[in-house]
Amino acid sequence: MTVNDSSAEHLSALVQQRNHVSLSHYSGRFAPSPTGPLHFGSLITAVASYCDAKSQQGTWLVRIEDTDIPRIYPDSETHILNSIAAFGFEVDGEIIFQRQRLSIYEALIEQLKQQHLVYACQCTRKMLGSNAIYQGTCRDLNLNFKDQAIRVKVNDEHICFDDRLQGQHCSNLKYDLGDFVLKRRDGIINYQLAVVVDDFLQGITHVVRGADLLDNTERQIWLGQLLGYPRLSYMHLPLAMNANGQKLSKQNLAQALDLKQAPLLLAQAIDALHQPSVELDTPSNMLKQAVAQWNIDQIPHQTNLNGIFL
Ligand code: GLU
Repeated sequence: MTVNDSSAEHLSALVQQRNHVSLSHYSGRFAPSPTGPLHFGSLITAVASYCDAKSQQGTWLVRIEDTDIPRIYPDSETHILNSIAAFGFEVDGEIIFQRQRLSIYEALIEQLKQQHLVYACQCTRKMLGSNAIYQGTCRDLNLNFKDQAIRVKVNDEHICFDDRLQGQHCSNLKYDLGDFVLKRRDGIINYQLAVVVDDFLQGITHVVRGADLLDNTERQIWLGQLLGYPRLSYMHLPLAMNANGQKLSKQNLAQALDLKQAPLLLAQAIDALHQPSVELDTPSNMLKQAVAQWNIDQIPHQTNLNGIFL
């Protein structure tokens, strides 16, 4: 049996497992990338995804999205895991690491290859320019998959979804983006593929995450459609901004969450989501209160939060 056969078998076993387990009516997740320590913006996402799931008697999972191995920041995985514990989040299941699941994503690419839905591409970023819409230059070249980027074909089709906060959002992937990359030439599995596959395999039903990922959603819906996965519900949260009007991010050197200040930071995150205040207590008790008071109608329906966060 070749490596590919065994990966395909492993994938098919996982799919069967997933289809046989009775799925929760609500299964949410928090899926940070360990490209830096968690910051206040990440805490807002964790709190919102947690409270939304728990207030509907759902489950809440954590997944570390670390396929982009060169961008992993030293010790950030430890900081993520320590933060989950320090802020009192209760995870309903095993925490998974995407880096340990690369053969699953490879098997999916192989499946899409058999269905002629992906192709190898030799265009470099330099040839294409950074924001260019990919014109399908390599679509019919039939290049060998080895050491090339792998792109998935998109159609001239409107994809729309109703975001629970941001309203209707649509894209025609052919004109807005073009065929997009699932695996880079250097072998790194792209976030778009890994996120869709794992949301499916983990039985996720609801995605709650930052509005910076709003524009990625149609790509993920498209991939899910190609793979025959059920549609998810989406809620994209307004982003916390720094004093320069930039979203808090690892790139903008947002401060790492100080775990010694967990109760205070938790109160601030709950406040930033315009939820009723909670009394300062242990993080676990504060989260219980926040879950009991959770009301998404209070969350601002915008992509940025007013106020300055560190
Ligand atoms: N891993 C992504 C990030 O840290 C989030 C993915 C998602 O929630 O879909 O930005």
